[in-house]
Amino acid sequence: MALRLETEIQYIKGVGPKLGALFNRHGLKTVQNLLQNYPRAYEDRRAARNIANLKPDDVVSLKAFVVNVASYAMGRSTRKIYDVLIRDSSGQIRCKFFRTPYRGYFERFKPGQEVRIVGTVTNYRGRLEFHHPEIKDIEPEEDISDALIPIYVETEGLNSSKISKLIQFAQNEIKEWAPEVLPKELVTKLNFISYQEALSRIHHPEPDLGNLYNEFKSEAHRRLIFEEFFWLEMYLASKRSGLKQEKGFAFKNDEKAIEQLKTALPFKLTGAQLRAFAEIKKDLESGRPMNRLVQGDVGSGKTLVSFLSALKAIESEFQVCLMAPTEILAEQHFKNAEKLLSPLGIRCALLTGKTKLKDRKEIAEKLISGETDFLIGTHALIEDWVQFKNLGLVIIDEQHRFGVAQRGILKNKGTSPHFLIMTATPIPRTLAMTVYGDLDVSIIDEMPAGRTPIQTRVVTESKHEKAVQFMAEQVAKGRQAYIVYPLVEESEKIDLKNATEEFEKLKAQFPKIRFGLLHGKMKGSEKDEVMTQFRAHQIDALVSTTVIEVGVDVPNATVMVIEHAERFGLSQLHQLRGRVGRGEHKSFCVMIMGYAVSQETRERVEFMEKTNDGFKVAEFDLQIRGPGEFMGSKQSGLPGFKMANLVRDVELLKVARDAAFDILAHDPKLSKKEHAPLREEILKSYGPQALAGVG
Ligand code: ADP
Ligand code: MG
Repeated sequence: MALRLETEIQYIKGVGPKLGALFNRHGLKTVQNLLQNYPRAYEDRRAARNIANLKPDDVVSLKAFVVNVASYAMGRSTRKIYDVLIRDSSGQIRCKFFRTPYRGYFERFKPGQEVRIVGTVTNYRGRLEFHHPEIKDIEPEEDISDALIPIYVETEGLNSSKISKLIQFAQNEIKEWAPEVLPKELVTKLNFISYQEALSRIHHPEPDLGNLYNEFKSEAHRRLIFEEFFWLEMYLASKRSGLKQEKGFAFKNDEKAIEQLKTALPFKLTGAQLRAFAEIKKDLESGRPMNRLVQGDVGSGKTLVSFLSALKAIESEFQVCLMAPTEILAEQHFKNAEKLLSPLGIRCALLTGKTKLKDRKEIAEKLISGETDFLIGTHALIEDWVQFKNLGLVIIDEQHRFGVAQRGILKNKGTSPHFLIMTATPIPRTLAMTVYGDLDVSIIDEMPAGRTPIQTRVVTESKHEKAVQFMAEQVAKGRQAYIVYPLVEESEKIDLKNATEEFEKLKAQFPKIRFGLLHGKMKGSEKDEVMTQFRAHQIDALVSTTVIEVGVDVPNATVMVIEHAERFGLSQLHQLRGRVGRGEHKSFCVMIMGYAVSQETRERVEFMEKTNDGFKVAEFDLQIRGPGEFMGSKQSGLPGFKMANLVRDVELLKVARDAAFDILAHDPKLSKKEHAPLREEILKSYGPQALAGVG
């Protein structure tokens, strides 16, 4: 049987079911998968060096002897660090592993054994180390002195040279092993090498371009990275062009109520709020359904922007619903709406899980008859019985808690209502366009005037007592405080215990302070009870796991103490910090790190002292932790990338986005002959619904 791209790897000569299964476990099933299994680095044999002359950030390959293999616990956790000490005639260096590549990996190495180390030199507290280098057996044919050798993700029984050989074999056997799919015109315009050339070079790199290859910047990399972005952007662009063709409501009115609300406010809207609302207004008047995401830092005043948008719809005699992720937030929005909108004659209703049956009946009737203008609630809104007379606008607060499916259900409660989604997880614009690719994005990047910035301090455990005393002082002045514990899924019990213990300890230490406890194991009604008391200032200090993260607004709270800050992502820390600094008094945030944190972690958390700007925090978080936080989430429904990196390759992302949108702008149905392969490729990767918009 002739080898083809679709052939399973196990049928390649000399592979067989056992090795085939090993490939399978790595997600490599077909020959095509194998060819698209890109090297994760390149070993530059000419760069071989002595341990003594290594410099930070060098990517090197060197021969050395194992001195010792040790393992020890990492801080107080059960995780282990593996530490392989190696030496050559010039000196010695440690290879550290924070997770084991596979079981039995370290048992391979014996003191005195000669090995090859391939990796990047890291400067750790002034000392040079390798972190997660490749440690390989010395191969017999190792005297090839000037080659750049691809290194693949390896496992037991599957090393890079074996993978290389199979790839080579497939490339020789198959005639058309890398068919070109991109339009020729595009390849020429962007100055790319052909797909075949790229795929060939990625596995057989030009030997004198080691650095370019290891930085993912070679021509082959550029072409392949572009391609990954391009397919995603084609998908997003076609989905979007479908949405744009739908018919929607055009709200054109004199905005009397909007003007009234603006005059009634005790403050002026910020420039950013006005800009965002202007963008929304344009959509609402356009006659096409709006799909807009408003991103704004915590406290930037998104609620008000959404209320203005609601008025725009209601003044055109349509109904609006606003969905919030928690009861606490839904109630908060409802109270605001009653305060700001009811005086204008807007009829608001609240629907949560707590709403009684009797009240539900009334809500249902008034929605159908059109006597309710603005329905605010939780998930309860998506229940079947909730039916509107004419739903014109759906507002969703804190998008990341809701999936795409829920958006779909709400959409079907009207005929193509407008959608406004608000999120306080600011992410850089380029990334936002990709993560929320079918949405337009507005950004509120300005805080209301007169806020005193929150003062943030990052300290270690040794300052714990001081932090608690500070909290007590603020409470004595009449302020309120949060003390937050992380909640990590696998150790939920321990964390709960921590929070509960701390709660008891604090109560004993400060008998005058009224403490409350809030954690995820409590029933919704219990949580609400505590939250209501806190808001009414019947509780002074709230000890809590992260359930308070989203949106809660208690302006009298001025202290946020975060325990084990190192366990949080920076964006999350920023969210938590945003719970204070909402009122007239100066606010403080103390982030306490455990004793056993690494230098890197410390530096990461300390970044929080440098800025109060959520976008800067997000950008930094993205740079160090990668986009997994945003992209990996299942709800985004987007594929992972094999090679592309949203931070490193953001320039190519833009190029790909422009190219994709340009193609669809000129050929919305992809009906031109030269676009047929594109069409096919999208169908193959995303299924027919991806092209629903394209027709
Ligand atoms: P978020 O964007 O985090 O949802 P909110 O909408 O809850 O923020 O607004 C936070 C607080 O700021 C609210 O108390 C709100 O009344 C107030 N606020 C909103 N806009 C302004 C403004 N332009 N000037 C002053 N205060 C404002
Ligand atoms: Mg909010």
